[in-house]
Amino acid sequence: MSQKLILPLNKCNVNAGYKMPKYTQEWGFLHYGIDLGNPDKQRTIYSPGDGTVIACGMDGATESERMGNAIVLVFLDVERNDGETTSLACRMFHLDSIAVQPGQAVKRGDVLGVYGNTGANTSGAHLHVEFDTDTQYPQYAVGIKSSGNVIKKGNKDTTVDPSKVWYVGPGQTLYDGYGGSGVSSGWIAQNDLDVPKLPEEAPAVDYKTLYEAESQKVETLKEGIRDIISRAENMVK
Ligand SMILES: [Zn+2]
Repeated sequence: MSQKLILPLNKCNVNAGYKMPKYTQEWGFLHYGIDLGNPDKQRTIYSPGDGTVIACGMDGATESERMGNAIVLVFLDVERNDGETTSLACRMFHLDSIAVQPGQAVKRGDVLGVYGNTGANTSGAHLHVEFDTDTQYPQYAVGIKSSGNVIKKGNKDTTVDPSKVWYVGPGQTLYDGYGGSGVSSGWIAQNDLDVPKLPEEAPAVDYKTLYEAESQKVETLKEGIRDIISRAENMVK
């Protein structure tokens, strides 16, 4: 059965979008993910869906510990908001702490850890999230200079724009970073903020109530028939 993914932060600022030209100008390489932060500085990361932790831990030990604390997950049968359904690898970088273990099954909304400022190429606490259709090699990321303990150097770009994947979950809010000026800053695009809300689940059918209502109808019909029969019998007498 397919699933829909939600944002990994309940209050979610978008600080840098997917493959934004301004990011490449600043850092000299393409941004294959999206950078998020919580405006309330509440840094808990939640699992976007039901999946499996493939690998996690400190990516270290050289190049300023590369991606810092990283988590790699796989989510099967994801119904993306762009209408495609694919299984997706998800890579998260720069965590302060990790609350899961490799091989662990996670449910949507489970705590994965706390984001922070670990690893190279970070100028402040934020969560970098990538989605990748290559679930066979989920630890391989394109744009990485060399392999670390968790994240390996990939050579093919199979990433997907996260804003085309996830939904704003119940109780979640998606903000334009930079206090409303994010789009004009050039670090994020309107597209990053055009994320649909997760559709309300259809209410579960209450079969017991339905059965009782239908049984009542049958009883009423039976009574009617009994009445007709007794009246017919009286006429015969
Ligand atoms: Zn990033």
